[in-house]
Amino acid sequence: MDFFLNDDELMIQEVVRDFAQSELKPNAARLDRDHRMDLGNLKKMAELGFMGMNIPEPYGGAEVGVVPYSLGMIEVGRACAATAVTMSVTNMVAEVICAFGSDALKEKYVPRICSGEYPAGAFGLTESMAGSDPGAMRTTAVREGDCYRLNGSKIFITSAEYAGIFVVWAVTDKEAPRGRRISAFLVERDTPGFSIGRAEEKLGQRGSATNEIIFEDCLIPAANLLGAEGNGLKIAFMALDGGRIGIGSLALGIGLEAIDYASDYVKQREQFGRPIATFQGIQWAIADTYTELEAARLLVLQAAFLKQKKKPFTTAASMAKLYASEAANRSCYQAVQLLGGNGYTAEFPVERLYRDVRVTTIYEGTSEIQRLVIAQQILGRL
Ligand SMILES: Cc1cc2nc3c(=O)[nH]c(=O)nc-3n(C[C@H](O)[C@H](O)[C@H](O)COP(=O)(O)OP(=O)(O)OC[C@H]3O[C@@H](n4cnc5c(N)ncnc54)[C@H](O)[C@@H]3O)c2cc1C
Repeated sequence: MDFFLNDDELMIQEVVRDFAQSELKPNAARLDRDHRMDLGNLKKMAELGFMGMNIPEPYGGAEVGVVPYSLGMIEVGRACAATAVTMSVTNMVAEVICAFGSDALKEKYVPRICSGEYPAGAFGLTESMAGSDPGAMRTTAVREGDCYRLNGSKIFITSAEYAGIFVVWAVTDKEAPRGRRISAFLVERDTPGFSIGRAEEKLGQRGSATNEIIFEDCLIPAANLLGAEGNGLKIAFMALDGGRIGIGSLALGIGLEAIDYASDYVKQREQFGRPIATFQGIQWAIADTYTELEAARLLVLQAAFLKQKKKPFTTAASMAKLYASEAANRSCYQAVQLLGGNGYTAEFPVERLYRDVRVTTIYEGTSEIQRLVIAQQILGRL
């Protein structure tokens, strides 16, 4: 067993770290304050290959592998969580199209994502009555000749305001058994009948747009179907397996950033005539947090490694996402505590990190849903 990163992995980690530290981190507070993504930085990231890290080169991807992708997501998560979630979802969308799209769809859309022609890709699964249970969705797609007619709406769609292409799920056969009712499609942003609805006011990751999307008699080419009709849920779950490696990595990055900041702070801050780092209570908090984040790192990289080796990774990805997002939340909580009153103010970055990390136990499957996935893999369907 080899725990060391190879030269290529170290090089990619360094490239992403340099960019994240110089271009993303200095702007993270501004994005949060203005509730606005920096589209210029998304374009630069695409040019550096960050938007298609696991995509084959012929489609414009960097094709560097899942472990380097995870390492990159950790670095971007450290610097700016809002940008990191944009990168994570965009990579996931490019991968879904590559895995399930026809040659024509892959050739048309994937290079536009990887090159940054599209600032982002979006993933349209959740509805107001179908969150943890996407099988309950109500958006419909009715076949009409060479088209499908879409009606319905989705909520909480990351990057909807600037995404160029949307993967969208809709019911194609209401009468079919539950697992066969839904299909996946690609929808271009300027398609008539498709519109972007209201933006959510969020606790954190405010630089990333999260909107409703609406379909009103929206006609899309039948050729935009991904995979076979009725296979939509399977496609969604496979995409989310991979997406969870991205979100686990992103969460880990936020947790590491918070506790690194707090570790420096406790060495400077003096109370009772000495640095608070000299108190054992503080040292234990630091030791426990780094231990948990190291365990999270091993889980996340193991899941990435399995996916890279084309081995089954569903359980590993859910374990990684569950543990990393929960550990990162504890880390940010601890970091605020270690800074005392300062930690609660926007003067210090842990206040934003604490808000940014919260959603990582919710999106791409809540912690409870990760536990369901893990238990189902272990116990089988009961
Ligand atoms: C900022 C943000 C960005 C997002 N981006 C996207 C996106 O780009 N695309 C997209 O499609 N979706 C996106 N989502 C939606 C996200 O994936 C859902 O919010 C999430 O899956 C949970 O669904 P829900 O909010 O409907 O909660 P619910 O499903 O209503 O869950 C409420 C609570 O019940 C628990 N629960 C539900 N079922 C069970 C069960 N069987 N056992 C135990 N507990 C259960 C949940 O864990 C949770 O604690 C985003 C959400 C947010 C907040």
